[in-house]
Amino acid sequence: MSAFLLTEPEVGSDPARLATSMTPDDEGFVLFGIKLWATNGTIAGLFVVMARVPATEGNRGGITAFVVEADSPGITVEARNSFLGRRGIENALIRFDRVRVSAENVLMGVGRGLKIALATLNTGRLLLPAICGGKRGVQVVLERGPRLVG
Ligand SMILES: Cc1cc2nc3c(=O)[nH]c(=O)nc-3n(C[C@H](O)[C@H](O)[C@H](O)COP(=O)(O)OP(=O)(O)OC[C@H]3O[C@@H](n4cnc5c(N)ncnc54)[C@H](O)[C@@H]3O)c2cc1C
Repeated sequence: MSAFLLTEPEVGSDPARLATSMTPDDEGFVLFGIKLWATNGTIAGLFVVMARVPATEGNRGGITAFVVEADSPGITVEARNSFLGRRGIENALIRFDRVRVSAENVLMGVGRGLKIALATLNTGRLLLPAICGGKRGVQVVLERGPRLVG
């Protein structure tokens, strides 16, 4: 089970402003920040975390996606979020306090995370519902036969 951690308490629709940081050091990276509305966050074994890598000499840095093991030291699931509906959703507020992450856990390269984040949002928020809606329409036609509309 995995969770996708992009949104922060101060950053939602505009992911380019995210503040969670991944600072490089000799052994890899150190993760610091807080993520909100993480679906599956209370039960996932792996997190895909979007964080900002600072620019260093010879490296432009930028928003980067990392795979982070959920049981790494320094990770706290601070709350299971409640919603007016959707009572079954396992959605979390998660804090990262100096979490060590290996350099091999970078997804697709440093600075390429915003592209991954936007592609994930487009797929999850637009494409999947559109496919489900389309398939349901096909199913209705198969079950009831084609009908003239309008
Ligand atoms: C059930 C649920 C599950 C979620 N799961 C996840 C998850 O797994 N991982 C994750 O990272 N996030 C998740 N989210 C968070 C979700 O992606 C954010 O709620 C979303 O990005 C919007 O951010 P926000 O709530 O901060 O709203 P805001 O960014 O504050 O936006 C509030 C309103 O203002 C509008 N708005 C914002 N900026 C502008 C602008 N420049 N011009 C015009 N209108 C604007 C928005 O369209 C919106 O209507 C989840 C949210 C919910 C409700």
